[in-house]
Formats: sequence, structure tokens, C-alpha cells
Amino acid sequence: MLLDQIDNFEIFRPKMDSSKEVLHAIATFKADVSPSFPCVNAELGGWDYDQTNQVLLLKMSDGKWITLHPQKIAIRGARDIAEAKALLVWIQGQINDIHARREAITPRYVSQAGLKIMEILKLTPMTNCKACGSPTCMAYAAALREGEIGLSDCAPLWEDKYREKRKKLQTYLESFGWRALDAE
Ligand code: SF4
Repeated sequence: MLLDQIDNFEIFRPKMDSSKEVLHAIATFKADVSPSFPCVNAELGGWDYDQTNQVLLLKMSDGKWITLHPQKIAIRGARDIAEAKALLVWIQGQINDIHARREAITPRYVSQAGLKIMEILKLTPMTNCKACGSPTCMAYAAALREGEIGLSDCAPLWEDKYREKRKKLQTYLESFGWRALDAE
């Protein structure tokens, strides 16, 4: 097991905005979990992966973030202590499970943050029809990059005349490990 023991887990309210009803938490440990990052990035769809400094950022729904460092896990935006603890248990389990399966996983070194909104926009129908609930295709492209909306939300994209664009968009998204927030 790569990460078997958490030495310290501190949960606190962020000083910068103590009015916010969210908590931050930091877990520290002696093990170096950075060897798991390329596979964790591949399996969980990391938002940003900084190989030089070994920092892997995972974006969750509802403004929650989990940042992995070699000997530290930072959790931002938990609703309460129970959720902070549950997120730590979840990510610890993921690190250990993914590391155990690493031989069967193709590591990924790119991340979703590399996606360009303008490249996504070019592959939408660009009709600004609002059927997706976004006011423009540009707004849809921005939300898609963030993982807050999916390809299926743009109904026109599934029409025959946009098949090529959709395929190119799928390929582009997949090349950066895109996934919707909290996707299974
Ligand atoms: S449904 Fe598709 S075509 Fe219509 S605004 Fe949204 S992204 Fe653009």
C-alpha cells in the first residue's frame, strides 16, 4: 500500500473568507505518493498536472478541489467535517487502488487545463441556439472545458450534419483526459 498512514489531518475554515460556509483540510504523511500521479491523473481526470513540481489538481463538483502533493493532500471547499473526512478517505483509497493497478494503466501526463476554449468553440455548431441552456456556444465551450456540462447537452451536435465536428470534439477532449465533474 502506497499511502497507509496519515500522520496529521487538520480541518479549518479559510482565513481569507471566514464568512464562507466551507472548510479546507490538509493531510500530511511520510510516504511519497507522487509516483502514483500519472496513473491517478489518467484514472480520475486531473484538472492540472504539474510534473516539474509534482502537483496534481483534481476538480470536483460544487467548488470542491483536491490537490495532491508528494507528502500532502489539500482539500478545499468541503461542506462540513464529515465531508472533509469522507473526501480524504476517498482519495486515499483511490491512490492506493490505482497504484496497485498501475501496471494495467496507461499513465497520462497531460491534463484538462490544456484544453483551449477557442478550439472547443470551433467544433461546436456555432449557431448560439441556446438549446444547451448556455446563452452562446462560447459559454457552452467554456462550461464544457470546466467539465460542468457534457457533449450530450448540445443536442444539435448530435445531428448528422455535425457528426464530423462531434467526432473531432470528442477526440480533442479525450486527448486531454476530459471528463465531466464527478463522473464515475
Ligand atoms: S446547444 Fe450547441 S449550438 Fe446551441 S448554443 Fe449550445 S453549444 Fe451552441
